[in-house]
Amino acid sequence: MVQRVLLTGANGFIGSHILSVLLSKGFSVRSVVRSQAKLDQMRKDFPDYSNSQLDFALVPNITAPGAYEKAVMSTPPFDTVIHAASPFLYRIVNDNSEFLVPALNGTKEILKAVKALAPSVTRVIITGSCAAVVDHSSETAKPATAESKKYTEDDWNPDSWETAMAGTLNVAYRASKTFAEKAAWDFLETEKPNFDLVVLNPPMVYGPIRHSVPSPKELNESTARIYTLFIEAKADDELPPNGMPSYVDVRDLADAHCLAATTPAASNTRMIICGGRASSQDISDALRENIPELRARTPKGLPGGNPLAKNAYSCSSERAQKVLGLKFRSREETFVGLARQLLDLEAKSAA
Ligand code: NAP
Repeated sequence: MVQRVLLTGANGFIGSHILSVLLSKGFSVRSVVRSQAKLDQMRKDFPDYSNSQLDFALVPNITAPGAYEKAVMSTPPFDTVIHAASPFLYRIVNDNSEFLVPALNGTKEILKAVKALAPSVTRVIITGSCAAVVDHSSETAKPATAESKKYTEDDWNPDSWETAMAGTLNVAYRASKTFAEKAAWDFLETEKPNFDLVVLNPPMVYGPIRHSVPSPKELNESTARIYTLFIEAKADDELPPNGMPSYVDVRDLADAHCLAATTPAASNTRMIICGGRASSQDISDALRENIPELRARTPKGLPGGNPLAKNAYSCSSERAQKVLGLKFRSREETFVGLARQLLDLEAKSAA
């Protein structure tokens, strides 16, 4: 039987890949977006699917009480809900609460609406983040000689709401993912809904873009990092700092969402979805070796050198590999394809 899925954040970098995988596997999907303009763009991005396989709901403000009431009601009814919408664009956020409130209240609103109005839903899948797993303050304070920690699903970002409101935007984003995920697990325990829960926690997500992006200025946060630091640069520039050492390919993450919708054993699990680790030098080497045009642009660093620090953490994907049978693409597939696409986008938007 065809599965019917409600997907939020469908027009974003990750959401559009999730949608693409679901549609290619024959699922029927209602995509939630927040404006008519975004809906129109999505129709253009997915022209091959009829209304019976791909329809849309407009939810202008995900934090408004009752925001999802109309979206969750459908004939045929939904089996699964995938909630990927959450703010992650630093350039449009002015205040820490703009990360925290939509992440937390958006999650609570969709869970409330599903429980009250969509009793056919048996599973809710949330796009979480390793931001909710890693203890960043302890990582920053670690001496260079300390051992590397391997994070697992037992770990939680310990930041409080107060720390998050008073801290940097980074602290607020990471806490937004933490509080949203905790609220979902709390909901399950206190409200005892018909559905079970799966939370997928990726580190940085890279790889090709599936949604329409008019210019490099409008890239999503993680892709913009690759463009700004590795492409809009010069070979002699200083190598960018390593940032989060772990990453996953967006296509592998999308596959994980699809598998989570169809794997009974995923019930009520939190799963880290991490494809590997990469230093800035690793990314630079992959781009410079494979794309001649980037040899004059991507910071050169010390080819083959500059490994991650000895104390740089890692994130274990053992559970996802075991439960979902997930496999991961190579580093080259992730970064080289994306960089080629970014060069094309740059050329098109300059024309
Ligand atoms: P993205 O391209 O910016 O997509 C975010 C999606 O969420 C868009 O559909 C966006 O809608 C929607 N959204 C954001 N703020 C919203 C708000 N206040 N109200 C309603 N909708 C809102 O980012 P992404 O990288 O695909 O992120 C998708 C999910 O993955 C997020 O939950 C993010 O936390 C998580 N994640 C991302 C990464 C990464 O490296 N990219 C890593 C770990 C976890 P609009 O287009 O209307 O803004």
